[in-house]
Amino acid sequence: MSLYRKYRPLTFASIAGQEHIKQTLENEIVRNELVHAYIFAGPRAVGKTTTARVFARALNCNIRKTKQSEPCNSCESCEAILQGRTLDIIEIDAASHTGVDNVRENIIAAARVANTMLRYKVFIIDEVHMLSTSAFNALLKLLEEPPSSVVFILATTELQKVPATIISRCQRFDFMRISPADMKARLTLIVEQEGKTLEESVYDDIIRLSDGCQRDAESLLGQILALHDKKIDAKLAALVLPHSNRQLIAQLLGAIASRNTSEAIKLVDSMIAEGVDIETVVNDSIEDLRSLLRFMSGAGDTVQEAQSTRATLEELSKKFSQQEVLTITDYFAQCLQDMRLFSHIQLPFEIAVVKSCLRS
Ligand SMILES: [Zn+2]
Repeated sequence: MSLYRKYRPLTFASIAGQEHIKQTLENEIVRNELVHAYIFAGPRAVGKTTTARVFARALNCNIRKTKQSEPCNSCESCEAILQGRTLDIIEIDAASHTGVDNVRENIIAAARVANTMLRYKVFIIDEVHMLSTSAFNALLKLLEEPPSSVVFILATTELQKVPATIISRCQRFDFMRISPADMKARLTLIVEQEGKTLEESVYDDIIRLSDGCQRDAESLLGQILALHDKKIDAKLAALVLPHSNRQLIAQLLGAIASRNTSEAIKLVDSMIAEGVDIETVVNDSIEDLRSLLRFMSGAGDTVQEAQSTRATLEELSKKFSQQEVLTITDYFAQCLQDMRLFSHIQLPFEIAVVKSCLRS
């Protein structure tokens, strides 16, 4: 079983991040102030479906006390939902069921049938933006007059493609990318439960590579933990992680900062010798320069930097002016374009690096 499935959060408390959403949903459960339709919008792999499932169990849990919001996950209802044994929880992937007939058969007809065992029948409709116009119209009619014991949770990565008429019928929640701190907390928990230890920089690498998507982070972690060693250091993790050039790039930017052309060229040569993918290095460099610029201008990011990255940014920010960072970003962006024209991609890269060292 994949790590993501094995550790799929069973309670609101164990879902990474999304504090404002969890709090609102839990309050609604405690106060019994449910609405009939919810829309969960946001990037992929940040917990929309997981939250929908926890919510569905909390609504239906038999032994949840009045002031509690978490499902027990062991009563008859919770178990039936967890094991997918109840007809009252209906998960539909709209991406493969786009047509109006599907909405009629799988949603409208099912909504009219009395619940078989649960208090609330819950429809979780994933990628809802994929529905056709006529399918949306049929769904809208149902949302306008929902049966009393039915709750709809629509999930989408592209809210702008969902008709405003549908959105206005739903309580809307905007899911965010998971912050490094929340991601780290969750990854640490899993590593501990697996009885392993991970070098600090490996966490940083996973967090950076997964870009706020919890599922991606856990899938990378799963591949790393599968290495079987109890203690996993950066060198071992590198066998699995997509090649990380971050340290090389930090060194390169350091050499550029001190206008050390020969050192910078040496670094380029060693990257080539190691078979590093140069286009990725240039892309990553541009991304790092962007972070640096944001850091220098004091603009916070929704996804804060991992600790080691932050230290690097701090150091580099002392060596560059913002104008210099802009100039170098231009050189690297130009280099990316030139690389697509030249067959010899090392040349544009070297030119960009030397121009950056010689900047005025
Ligand atoms: Zn329960």
